[in-house]
Amino acid sequence: MKPAPFAYHRARDAAGAARLLAELGDDAKVIAGGQSLVPMMSFRLARPGHLVDIGGLRELDYLRAEADGSLRIGALTTHHAVETAPDGVIGPGFRVLRDAMSWVGHLPIRTRGTVGGSIAHGDTTAEWCLLAVLLDAELTALGPHGRRVIPAAEFFHGFYTTALEPDEILVEITFPAPAPHAALTEFAERRGDFAIVSTAVSLDLGPAGEVRGGRVALGGVAPAPVRSPEAEAVLAVGAAAGAEAELFTACAHAAAAAADPPHDANGSAAYRRTLIRTLVQDACEEAMTR
Ligand SMILES: Cc1cc2nc3c(=O)[nH]c(=O)nc-3n(C[C@H](O)[C@H](O)[C@H](O)COP(=O)(O)OP(=O)(O)OC[C@H]3O[C@@H](n4cnc5c(N)ncnc54)[C@H](O)[C@@H]3O)c2cc1C
Repeated sequence: MKPAPFAYHRARDAAGAARLLAELGDDAKVIAGGQSLVPMMSFRLARPGHLVDIGGLRELDYLRAEADGSLRIGALTTHHAVETAPDGVIGPGFRVLRDAMSWVGHLPIRTRGTVGGSIAHGDTTAEWCLLAVLLDAELTALGPHGRRVIPAAEFFHGFYTTALEPDEILVEITFPAPAPHAALTEFAERRGDFAIVSTAVSLDLGPAGEVRGGRVALGGVAPAPVRSPEAEAVLAVGAAAGAEAELFTACAHAAAAAADPPHDANGSAAYRRTLIRTLVQDACEEAMTR
């Protein structure tokens, strides 16, 4: 199918894009890489009357490692730019971001799709959404009245729904602190498909390699990506270096037991719980090797 008719507007800068959105009202949508929006328009699941194209705004295409240890990513940075970023930009502290990109679709999608587009789209299993929740990313939105920073914990409201207002664009994603012992893993029926369940873990290790705690995030088990406080409570018990296997098993069981995943055409709730258990255990073990 072809998209319904729409008017095309090319933004000259980020502030101009926000002004255009405010002028055009609820019938307007931003287009960045088009890798989610264009298929939705082609299937007529989305029928915006106006498209505001921000794809040419180089000012939003950057990756910056800051002196305070944070990493700033411009919203128009592509998945592929992260995947191929040199060590000087994405060092060991953010390797999980680079490694996670291999799970995102296929190369042609990664060369056009953007970090900001992924997060604004708000798919519960999307790797960027999961990483933002896991690592407490700060999401900077720009609207006609200026900028505001939204913590990832408050950004994802539900099924493809976020805290962004219709006249706001996402301009920057900040990961405030390095996560050197983190891993993301997921299961999809075919490589490159959206995951049925995705999980991510970031471990807090002590100087001798002992586990002192950690974070666990789950995608595909609720309308938005979520942290698992129950699994994190298990990790907080800790384990000496070399004795973490039981802790990781208990953590994976806690994550699965506490989740209330949906039953749909991709799998039953019980199937998803099995995936959570297996994937959280794998992610813990992989994070430990970092
Ligand atoms: C076959 C296929 C497989 C895929 N597999 C995966 C996968 O495994 N994992 C995954 O995460 N993604 C996957 N994707 C989607 C891909 O990652 C997209 O790049 C991403 O979801 C959206 O980024 P985009 O720049 O293309 O956004 P667009 O498609 O241009 O926009 C998506 C939505 O976000 C809004 N938007 C975009 N940028 C902004 C902004 N800066 N501010 C405010 N709103 C904005 C748009 O209005 C639209 O609603 C897949 C896509 C395809 C076609």
